Amino acid sequence: MATTRATTTRATTRATMGRRRGTTTTRATATTTGAGNRGLVREGATSARAVEAVAYCVEHGLMIGGDEAGRFTHAPVSCAPTTFPRSAYELAEATSPAFAELYDGVSRDDGFLRETLRGAIKNDAFTAALWDVYERSGGQEGRQKAEVGVLRSDYMLDAPSGLPLQVEVNTVSTSFMALGSKVSAMHRHLAAWSAKPGEVVDFDAMPQNDALSSAGDVLAAGWKAMGSKGKIMMVVQPNERNMFDQRHISHYIFETHGIHTVRATLAEVNAEGALRDGTLTFRGDDIGLVYFRAGYTPSDYPTSGEWSARLLIEQSNALKSPSVAMHLAGSKKVQQKLAEAGVLESFMPERAADMRRVFADLYSLDGDEGTEAIKLALANPAGYVLKPQREGGGNNLYSDDLRKRLELGGDLGAFILMQRILPPSHQTLTVRAGKVLEIETLSELGIYGSYLRVGDEIVINKHGGSLLRTKAATSDEGGVAAGYAVLDSPLLV
Ligand code: ADP
Ligand code: MG
Repeated sequence: MATTRATTTRATTRATMGRRRGTTTTRATATTTGAGNRGLVREGATSARAVEAVAYCVEHGLMIGGDEAGRFTHAPVSCAPTTFPRSAYELAEATSPAFAELYDGVSRDDGFLRETLRGAIKNDAFTAALWDVYERSGGQEGRQKAEVGVLRSDYMLDAPSGLPLQVEVNTVSTSFMALGSKVSAMHRHLAAWSAKPGEVVDFDAMPQNDALSSAGDVLAAGWKAMGSKGKIMMVVQPNERNMFDQRHISHYIFETHGIHTVRATLAEVNAEGALRDGTLTFRGDDIGLVYFRAGYTPSDYPTSGEWSARLLIEQSNALKSPSVAMHLAGSKKVQQKLAEAGVLESFMPERAADMRRVFADLYSLDGDEGTEAIKLALANPAGYVLKPQREGGGNNLYSDDLRKRLELGGDLGAFILMQRILPPSHQTLTVRAGKVLEIETLSELGIYGSYLRVGDEIVINKHGGSLLRTKAATSDEGGVAAGYAVLDSPLLV
């Protein structure tokens, strides 16, 4: 670990929420600085709760940041859980394993992937480069006979129907398993801590969150399924801001299963990785499993060297979480294709009816069907979201930007159109980099899934904890690390 300094530093994250209308800011609360270390300043009941939250974060490693200068701060969090209907939560949870099986099934269907992604491969260089790695590593034949997945299926509550509508299923570089687990625990603590004498706290409404252990256990199970060889490699971004979430997982895997994790950027793998009789080696160690926490976005590949590293990993006999095929299966275009009549049903005949309940309306922008979809969206740009084949937040187009892009025309085969989900709003007490803000918010629920298939046998497939990401109601996107949202947990009602 680059630093062991136990001070928090005011983060340089974009304080998007503070600039919005209708926000309340409490000044000089719960802030420490690396230089001055002024300590935690109490200012009334609201701040006392935020101070308790920040102290809990620091004590329990609920932290973000971590560049080479050792700057880090507590994670942006809500100071209390946000209400979410129990029935919607349970539906999302119950269907989560079926989605894991579905996306793995898609990843194994070369013809379906090839046909579905044809337009995206033609129009989007990033999808094309991933597809190239898939082909050059031998497609389905070159692939390991196992898949280990740490997935997260994301939902927003559709206020009109009361149903959880699926935003997307993440098959690569899913994050916040560790910090999400800790936020749930923090909210339980704060509920007890702030209860009046004699007050009964309804812990049943705040589900226990085992996302951290579920992720660690399934990765360890995948490593063991491959013969317990060498170390686990975690592929990370240089100057990773979410290092603590990742390190908690590594520590859990080491403490519980005795397996070492080595962190490596794609550039480092390119420089210091090699293949020895098919085995991936890195700095002299054999690697049995590669867990990607980077590699999902074009900026992770600034040179051809990073692509060489991705190919090297893919060509090795290490188990990949995910394989490039599973990464491609998580494309927005696949999600849209699955929504077409009969397609989901062909993969999941027995579960399709349940799964369909959480599908939002999705539209292809190819051909005649595309022309109709463009008309629909131009008539009501605020009712839709335009999505390119990207992960990681900040890429979608809304309202005016959506209208402008559709009017520009050209080949839109690398985009999909989606119904805009309209969740109910809440008032939320948040704390970010020591600043307390009470804001109007919208929430997105993530249900984690652990999945391990060996050969044709599904060995593990279960839902494993959850995460609520809560953002300012005025913000279109919801990235926590990107500075748009806070980590939250559901209060089931
Ligand atoms: P990414 O892969 O970049 O995370 P998402 O599809 O999850 O892409 O979209 C990013 C964010 O945009 C979501 O977290 C959510 O806040 C918002 N968003 C995405 N789709 C919709 C939708 N259909 N309705 C409302 N908001 C959406
Ligand atoms: Mg997302």
